[in-house]
Amino acid sequence: MILLVDMDAFFASVEQQLHPHLRGRAVIVCGDKDRRGVVTAASYEARPFGVRAGMPMREARRLCPHAEYVEGNPRKYVEKSLELLEIFLTVTPDVEPFSVDEAFLDLSRLGARGDTYEAATHVARGLQQRIAEEHGLGASIGIGPNKLIAKMASGVEKPRGLTVMDEERFRGVFWPQPVQALWGVGEKSAAAFARLGITTVGDLARAPEPLLEQHFGVVGPHLQQAAWGRDRTPVVPYHEGVDPKSMGHEVTLPEDSRDAAFLEGTLLRLADQVARRLRGDGFAARTLTLKLRDFRFRTITRQRALPVAVDDHVSIFEVARALWREHWKGEPVRLIGVSASALEKKGEGEQIELFARDERRSALQEALDQVRDRLGEASVVPAGSLAYRRALGHVPFGAAQRTDADAPGKGDARVQRRATRDRLAGRSGYDDGAERSAPDPTQLKPRLDKRRPAP
Ligand SMILES: [Mg+2]
Repeated sequence: MILLVDMDAFFASVEQQLHPHLRGRAVIVCGDKDRRGVVTAASYEARPFGVRAGMPMREARRLCPHAEYVEGNPRKYVEKSLELLEIFLTVTPDVEPFSVDEAFLDLSRLGARGDTYEAATHVARGLQQRIAEEHGLGASIGIGPNKLIAKMASGVEKPRGLTVMDEERFRGVFWPQPVQALWGVGEKSAAAFARLGITTVGDLARAPEPLLEQHFGVVGPHLQQAAWGRDRTPVVPYHEGVDPKSMGHEVTLPEDSRDAAFLEGTLLRLADQVARRLRGDGFAARTLTLKLRDFRFRTITRQRALPVAVDDHVSIFEVARALWREHWKGEPVRLIGVSASALEKKGEGEQIELFARDERRSALQEALDQVRDRLGEASVVPAGSLAYRRALGHVPFGAAQRTDADAPGKGDARVQRRATRDRLAGRSGYDDGAERSAPDPTQLKPRLDKRRPAP
């Protein structure tokens, strides 16, 4: 049994939760202060006026002039999304965050506690109750035998809806609806279907398969199966959803260290390097991995999937630090690394609109990137890294060697020796295999790593 939990008017509801004076009022979340652009989210109080996400702000103002306009804060929503993920994980480890406000839960491992419609309904009610009590938010949940049905069922009743569907009920509800109601059919495919005389989901289900194949290739029969409510796509648990490509930086420390401030400062700088490479290549990452090697050459890698793709050093650092605080037991650290995977080309995600709107910050980041590209890595470091450098009187990678080490090939010999040993350690099986070891502590050149399959 699969559940799709879809948060109701998520961004607007989070704002209402955080700011009690907004509760019960029409709230429109927008991307930027000047309130140009489009509506990012509208509360349920604003919807009767016809305001919808994606609508130009000018139109929203005309339809609903009395609404409260709030500038969206992506970081808050991501944070909330991660808190909700923690709730889902108490039900099953098989959770796939699908977007910042949606997640699939596969209950099939729970047996009688979740794998019947009754049990799944019970689980879903429990989730809705916890989400309401602990976060003051509403969620609509769809239950079905597969992801497709769960997803489409979740939209049938909102807000705070709970819809259970088997294949038969799915056909009863969706066959009379326009073909665009089918998950995966957009405007363009709908127009192409219309040219073949296919206007409803039911038409698509009954269309001759060769015709579909001829016009849509392999997608045609696939969509036809979907029209029957059939879908075999697995739920990909958040801890497994890793793309083969990754970008990472790691550093062998000049000396083994158990100095938490020094190590966290190193993490910050690594996060910044990874972020800059992501942005340079136009990627954002949905999975972040922390790598630690201790003084006995024991290596661990720990990763976390994120509900949205990130490409800024603050987000990357925060996740890396959370993993670090969870998994570092205080032993002297020899090597530390941060990598990003499950890479998405920028502009592909649905939520990208809002997240790309963080204009000032990305303009600042672009400026910083330019300075560094011209003057080198050492010229600009994140403020936190500066603060801790002042506090400790040194920088990651060694104070005296910093400028030298930043120039490829001129690093401190001792650091290089240690790094070489780590590289060899990686080859000889000490490494548990998540990342190739970096050949040099300051990877100035971006590289796109092929991820090795785990042994
Ligand atoms: Mg939603």
